[in-house]
Amino acid sequence: MKADVIIVGAGIIGMSLALSLSKSNKKIIIIEKNLLNSLKINRVYSISEKTKSFYKEINIWDNIDEVNNLESMNIYYRNFNPKNLLSFSEKINKVKIGYIAQSKNISNSLLEKIKTDKNISLLDNYKINDIENTSEGIKININDCECIEARYLFSCEGSKSSIKRKLLEKNIYDDYNSKALVFNIKHSIENNNIAYQIFLKTGPVAFLPISKNYFSMVVSIKNKYSEKKIFKEENIADFIKDITNNKFGNIKLINKPISFNLKGFDSENYKVGNILFVGDSAHSVHPLAGMGLNLGISDIIEIVNITNSNSLSFNNKNFYSKYARKQKIINKQARRQLKFIEKIYSMDNKLAESIIKNTMSAIQKSGFVKKKIIEHANNNLSFF
Ligand SMILES: Cc1cc2nc3c(=O)[nH]c(=O)nc-3n(C[C@H](O)[C@H](O)[C@H](O)COP(=O)(O)OP(=O)(O)OC[C@H]3O[C@@H](n4cnc5c(N)ncnc54)[C@H](O)[C@@H]3O)c2cc1C
Repeated sequence: MKADVIIVGAGIIGMSLALSLSKSNKKIIIIEKNLLNSLKINRVYSISEKTKSFYKEINIWDNIDEVNNLESMNIYYRNFNPKNLLSFSEKINKVKIGYIAQSKNISNSLLEKIKTDKNISLLDNYKINDIENTSEGIKININDCECIEARYLFSCEGSKSSIKRKLLEKNIYDDYNSKALVFNIKHSIENNNIAYQIFLKTGPVAFLPISKNYFSMVVSIKNKYSEKKIFKEENIADFIKDITNNKFGNIKLINKPISFNLKGFDSENYKVGNILFVGDSAHSVHPLAGMGLNLGISDIIEIVNITNSNSLSFNNKNFYSKYARKQKIINKQARRQLKFIEKIYSMDNKLAESIIKNTMSAIQKSGFVKKKIIEHANNNLSFF
């Protein structure tokens, strides 16, 4: 079998990349190890304006079910007290705050389109045995018998890329010394489509509104606090009631919390010969700003821009070098910005607390600064 491009991994990033490259008339083969398993993981994503525009461009956005348009985003420091609040509102700041969508709905919309796309073949339940990465291109051997040839291979395997491991490529890590508990809650008082984030000493807690009475929760916990009773499954609803001063009424967990160790990283290299790393396969950030997927979409936008430009021939060995250089810088900066925020907000001393409160209060009064912050988030944390 032959194609222009092999994509390894049919997660949201792999499928989104395939559909965009198909629009550029490339032939693509996607190799996935277990699609059913991958689709079972249902996460809730905050989506930026840049990511929305990308999905509009590839005709996916209007087919994603249950997208929630955020009215506002309220950020609290230490407690739900209006004195320690930084609020961003679509109505007041005249700028879109973002959207909330479930991964199963994004994946289904992508998968439906892939099934009817003549440029894309999706091979599910396949295992890659050998990879030959020469100046001529890529040859891979799957399930011990079939050979596939292409000019490039994009690894979209998520944060545990086995191709990166095979190539002995290294990551540069940030250990947040934290874990995250992810679960959904039902609450009796409506959330009015407002997302919340509260920075506690124990770590940031995010509330993403899925619908009027449901939040998806990401509770980050510093390891030194992780054994506290309040974070046990049977107590966590009371913990949320407590930190929100009962703002959302009765709270009930509607699924079992899933626990992740939080680590940020950047790949030392985004390109090795004709193999390129994209999305979580190349980088990962703290979930506090809900940016992980959005950064991966920025990678794809850069790849597609290069693919559509005529500056070099598709076969030139440096064709995607600019992608590797530029996205490495952008994603490293994004990781550092989020690490800085996480560090500052988790500082545990009176002086730091007073500086943070004063800074938040100054920003709260400045519509101009708030608009700039939202625009930066909507540009997926890129200064370019
Ligand atoms: C707690 C938490 C909360 C988050 N919240 C947000 C948020 O609100 N907003 C946001 O934008 N991001 C968020 N993220 C980040 C987001 O989940 C990731 O950025 C995103 O899932 C990455 O997608 P991906 O397609 O690169 O990787 P994955 O989703 O990991 O997909 C990888 C795919 O590749 C397949 N695969 C892997 N290895 C192979 C192989 N060798 N051969 C074939 N197939 C293979 C897998 O089966 C899978 O289908 C969060 C992350 C965490 C941990």
